[in-house]
Amino acid sequence: MSRVLKNATNQITQKYKAISHKGVDLVKEKNKTADVIAHSDGVVVAMSSGHTLNRGATGNDSYGNYVKIRHDNGMYTLYAHLKSVYVKKNARVKRGEVLGPMGQSGNATGIHLHFEVRNSDDVRINPTPYLDNDLPNLPKQVDVIYQTYDLNKKKWLPNVVNDSDYAGNLENPVSAVYINLSQGSVKYRVHELNNKWLPIVNDRDDYAGNIGKAIDGIQISSDEYKISYRVHLIDLGWLSWVDKFDDTNNGYAGIYGHIIDAIQIRIN
Ligand SMILES: [Zn+2]
Repeated sequence: MSRVLKNATNQITQKYKAISHKGVDLVKEKNKTADVIAHSDGVVVAMSSGHTLNRGATGNDSYGNYVKIRHDNGMYTLYAHLKSVYVKKNARVKRGEVLGPMGQSGNATGIHLHFEVRNSDDVRINPTPYLDNDLPNLPKQVDVIYQTYDLNKKKWLPNVVNDSDYAGNLENPVSAVYINLSQGSVKYRVHELNNKWLPIVNDRDDYAGNIGKAIDGIQISSDEYKISYRVHLIDLGWLSWVDKFDDTNNGYAGIYGHIIDAIQIRIN
């Protein structure tokens, strides 16, 4: 699967050549156009828009509408000849985020993507090994995976990954919580409604909670990663994000006596 064209496999129309063509030209298979996507997470360090076809243009103008991203390992990727650009300079982009549709702005012959990879010295290298693969030495992405037990429906609800969603059914009390990290460890515990903190649970051990009882507090932490979490109360809505696990008022999420019906967790 292409890392730079959305829902496509790459078809190379012009290979990388160390002297004359320091990138690779791509279309979607069967000579089709596609949306151009960010190869990996990073920051848009340069972009240009408003260009049309400009045969013979040189320097940065030859790229037409382009996006250049610095990735978390210090390397860069560059995407040229776009029809238009959807992202702004200094924006943080995620792997797979659409940068703009393929086009033929700048010095281009036909609609295609000119894709470059540059090392941390901003020197263009052969991008071919990375067309379908990760860049080297990227920090590993860590995900938090969690689910809650719905006291009314009497069942575990589906897994949630990071803060793309929340775990819980609004209006239905949460009775227990299960949390895991894709790597590293997490510890957590819940406060039983109007009662007490239940024992700390470590990932893969068990869930936290008493099936059949509602909860009104939760604490989560990891030795390796900074975790933030928040809860939704049936009567008061979402509370603020919490990033500690201690005995202070800011060291847990919840308000004693107020039933939690959803939680949300993220890794910062
Ligand atoms: Zn090219």
